[in-house]
Amino acid sequence: MHSRAQALISESALAGNLTALARRAGARLLLPVKADAYGHGLEIVARIAARHPDVWGLAVAVPREAAALAQLNPGKPILLLTPPMPEEVGPLADLGVRLPVASLAEADALPAHARAHLKVDTGMNRLGARPGEAVEIGLRLAGRGLLEGVYTHFATADEPDLSFAREQLARFRRVLAALPPVLAHAANGGGILSFGVLPGLSLARPGLASYGFAPAHLREAVPLTPVMTLRARVTHVHPVHPGESVSYGGLWRAGRETTVATVGVGYADGYPRNATGKAWVLVRGERRPVLGRICMDQMMVDVTGLDVRVGDWVEVWGRNEVTVTDVAGWADTVEYEVLTGVGPRVERLAEAGDTVSRTPLPSKG
Ligand SMILES: *Cc1c(COP(=O)(O)O)cnc(C)c1O
Repeated sequence: MHSRAQALISESALAGNLTALARRAGARLLLPVKADAYGHGLEIVARIAARHPDVWGLAVAVPREAAALAQLNPGKPILLLTPPMPEEVGPLADLGVRLPVASLAEADALPAHARAHLKVDTGMNRLGARPGEAVEIGLRLAGRGLLEGVYTHFATADEPDLSFAREQLARFRRVLAALPPVLAHAANGGGILSFGVLPGLSLARPGLASYGFAPAHLREAVPLTPVMTLRARVTHVHPVHPGESVSYGGLWRAGRETTVATVGVGYADGYPRNATGKAWVLVRGERRPVLGRICMDQMMVDVTGLDVRVGDWVEVWGRNEVTVTDVAGWADTVEYEVLTGVGPRVERLAEAGDTVSRTPLPSKG
């Protein structure tokens, strides 16, 4: 049974973005695939990343994601970005997952076959050891032969004012200078676009940018292509007469004879209900308004004058006239939230013409 809504994933767009970002960073990539690869589908993205020469490894947020990714066997390192609970450390190390470490106690609790990335808090104040404590932790890890990398995270690298990001970078460099040479990474997508090459930092972690989006003031830095097209099928076409209303609350009322198509995507699939009254979709290449309240499983679209039939596909967002950036704007949120909201009912498929993403990952020995 096929889904009413499908996310088509463009391998060429993703691969092109990765190449461009790695070149701009002068570094290999630790590709964030947390939150089901920003909603694009962990498996399909892992397949593409597994074969991309600029991808060093993959980064996830939580142990469940690390285990799911290890199961897919991408053949590249996996880094967990947030602290595991004590009972999760052994099983994750057994899977080969690289673990974040931010205290001496965490360093000492690692088994001898673990590999660690020291997390330094240079100002985000979310996770990590403060710079003054980080060196001792790093030296302890290095002494046991467990230190593979050191990293930090910028709080403001995607903003026009980079002064705080530069201060974070300076704090990070002081820690690096006191440690033996290991992998080092700091830049998220905003950091790569804002700073370009950061000498001495061998990896970078672009998330949203890899999937094709950048803040408006950084769009010139690197050409990026949105990776996902979301499309959904027309399930019903019907006339609505002047004076009649459409959907919950009767928010929209027909001023003229209107042909309405009901489309099988709603807020349970991740289309933001907050976009009600502002949203547009692409029907047969034409921008058409969504009418009335967006429902859990459906939305209604004005298709007056178009030859639209049950089973036709409507482009909900993509690379053309309606983008995730538009949808995020209508819903008063950011692309991150729209993309990661795409739900499990939405099928993730390789866009036609792509090949690598159809090739299975190497099977586990
Ligand atoms: C999510 C995340 C990233 C990626 O951030 P983007 O803004 O999507 O580029 C990088 N590093 C860490 C630690 C993260 O949590």
